Amino acid sequence: MSKRCIVIEGEKYPCEIIKTNNKTMRVSYQNGTFIIKSNPKLHPNIDPQLLYQENKRTFKRILSFKDNSYKYEPGEIITLIGKKYLIVASLNNGIYGDSIFINMYKDPKKEVFKAAHDMILSYLDTRTRFFHAKYFYDVPLPSVKVKIMKSRYGVYHTKHNYITYSAYLAHYPLELIDYVIVHELCHTKVKSHQKEFYDILVKILPNHKELRKKMKEERYIAS
Ligand SMILES: [Zn+2]
Repeated sequence: MSKRCIVIEGEKYPCEIIKTNNKTMRVSYQNGTFIIKSNPKLHPNIDPQLLYQENKRTFKRILSFKDNSYKYEPGEIITLIGKKYLIVASLNNGIYGDSIFINMYKDPKKEVFKAAHDMILSYLDTRTRFFHAKYFYDVPLPSVKVKIMKSRYGVYHTKHNYITYSAYLAHYPLELIDYVIVHELCHTKVKSHQKEFYDILVKILPNHKELRKKMKEERYIAS
């Protein structure tokens, strides 16, 4: 990892270059820092400023994304399934009214999602059943699990017919939660993202491209 910086319109942004084995270079922006993940075999000498000059639009778009990720600290107000909750330090975890109590001696993020697990699961299960009954009734209903997952919003497991949703999904607006549910349900019919997959998706959510864009702009998954 090496540290540099990029100057954009007179403003200095720190920049970290992280080595990966992936073929594609990825640029993200977290807590005021640009992160460039690249393969040193393919791009041995990256000049971040030059990279910016050549990809101005991409960098500016990344910069415009919101960093919505929470700290999960007592006193913080977080959104879960479209409703706001105040995090309160306690000796046990649980949800009472508009407060979410977390055990202050344990990892706060895990405590928040533990306290909210049943509520999140029940909502995602209900919505999955709703869309299944409406559009996917000709395939078996998948069961639903919730897990703290940073890399993906949802995964469909073909072999055992269940969907794992990321707990972070609970922070997103309800229309985006539905978008992810429908996306995963489409996988019960088409395994990968081929044309047939999008043919089904577009019939149910004609605005799926717009929703996908919104999904990227709301950033609750801090990587
Ligand atoms: Zn997919």
